[in-house]
Amino acid sequence: MNDSLIDFHCHLDLYPGFEEVVNECEEKMIHTLSVTTTPKAWPENFRIINTKKFVRCALGLHPQLVAERFHELSLWDEFLPQARYIGEVGLDASPRFYNSFDKQKAVFEHILKSCTNAGGKILSIHSVRSAPIVLAMLEKHLAVPKNKVVLHWFTGNVSNAIRAIDMGCYFSFNREMLSTKNGLELLKGIPVQKLLTETDGPFTGNDGIPYRPKDVIGTLEKLTTVLDKSIVEVRQILNRNLEVLES
Ligand code: MN
Repeated sequence: MNDSLIDFHCHLDLYPGFEEVVNECEEKMIHTLSVTTTPKAWPENFRIINTKKFVRCALGLHPQLVAERFHELSLWDEFLPQARYIGEVGLDASPRFYNSFDKQKAVFEHILKSCTNAGGKILSIHSVRSAPIVLAMLEKHLAVPKNKVVLHWFTGNVSNAIRAIDMGCYFSFNREMLSTKNGLELLKGIPVQKLLTETDGPFTGNDGIPYRPKDVIGTLEKLTTVLDKSIVEVRQILNRNLEVLES
């Protein structure tokens, strides 16, 4: 039966024992998307993960790092043909990163246009305080369904979500989102066929201990409660969603 756990946004290379976490995901058969934050991290991620069955790696340039890593965009271009998954990419308009917002937009536009040219990419997208701008840029610069989008830790409102659903976007939910009023509102407005789960580890955790992909079970349980379905049913829905996304 196809009922594996799914962690569709986790930074495996940021854990002290990177390979150990990769192997843990393989042993526990957890479908995991290992996102990266800089193109420089790609070669090692690709080397370790490329041959794995359950872990996939994504080529990223994190919006929070664009200020310092802008010059790595040419490396990102160089590695693009090797990558089926793209992330973490997107925009972050929170006060700490707003200085680089114009640069972030230039980088994101370049990334979206490059994916449009290449086709066949699956993107995990960050949109902190910038959901409407991210959506407008997706509509303008990304060819879908030739490419597919997963909005990670989406904090836009329900009308933003509807706009994203019209574009065919998926949403990866984590435990934190399911503890907020906005997150629960969003969940009600999104068809279950567009849902995935994530941890965003090691940036989330409990009592100072970062969540690992296996802890996505907590997200799944919470999701099951809110959706008022059985855990078996929700696991099947999510696995089916992943299958369709990757088909
Ligand atoms: Mn992340």
